[in-house]
Amino acid sequence: MSTVNANEYKSQVKPIWCPGCGDYAVLTALLRAFATLQLPKEDIAIASGIGCSSRFPAFVDTYGIHGVHGRALPLATGIKLGRPETTVVAVGGDGDGFSIGGGHIPHAARRNINITYIVMDNNVYGMTKGQPSPTTPLGTVGKASPYGSQEQPLNPLLMALSYNVSFVARCFSGRPREMSQVFVQALRHPGFALIQVLSPCVTFFNTYDHYRRLTRPLPASHDPGDRLKAMALAMETEPLYLGLFYQDVDRPTYEARLHEVRDQAPHLTLDAIFEQLRC
Ligand code: SF4
Ligand code: MG
Repeated sequence: MSTVNANEYKSQVKPIWCPGCGDYAVLTALLRAFATLQLPKEDIAIASGIGCSSRFPAFVDTYGIHGVHGRALPLATGIKLGRPETTVVAVGGDGDGFSIGGGHIPHAARRNINITYIVMDNNVYGMTKGQPSPTTPLGTVGKASPYGSQEQPLNPLLMALSYNVSFVARCFSGRPREMSQVFVQALRHPGFALIQVLSPCVTFFNTYDHYRRLTRPLPASHDPGDRLKAMALAMETEPLYLGLFYQDVDRPTYEARLHEVRDQAPHLTLDAIFEQLRC
């Protein structure tokens, strides 16, 4: 059987991101992860919302949909339920995913639907020219915040761990090799995986030096089964840890649960359903 190399997952559409944008490294790392797992292109679907990073599906030669703002997870959920055998990846940015789309994360988490969600977090709204996003640090001065951003940034990992997402990780575009390894783990994970990628916007908020200085791999002793410890590590700011914070492989997925319902439902008569509703 012939093997597929990472470049073969690229589409004919050339990315139009600014030179140096962190999202290039994310694209390369994901294509490498697909090649590592030798996933057939026709078995992959990528769903996105709106924003610079949400252009991602156009650059990959798989199924994909560039949807509407904040709706990457509902789209990905629909694809997964319709085609459970498909590897489904949701992609997008911090504005798309944590602001207008933020309400979808707890529900993907409690369902534990088998989707890998990659959030390219550049701490800014890049496509609309640099407004503060949900992860912009307090006091950041920009064209749209000349007196400094006045809102506390949220902590995406702490949020995901609080919602009990079953796979929570952080990567940095400046460390693409490690990022690809985390993507492989996430794609293999049987459940909902959320990866925050620190992916700088070189045009409106260049944080490469900041993250190069502050990021470190998680301590080798960290047990990804320990959610409370993962929360404590996610609250650290100096250093900012990278790697797999938390993983629970024992929870059933939403697809598996629905499958069981489908198996049981045909045996239920209407009278039996009404009887149950009366109880
Ligand atoms: Fe990347 Fe920022 Fe350019 Fe958008 S504006 S493509 S996020 S560097
Ligand atoms: Mg952003």
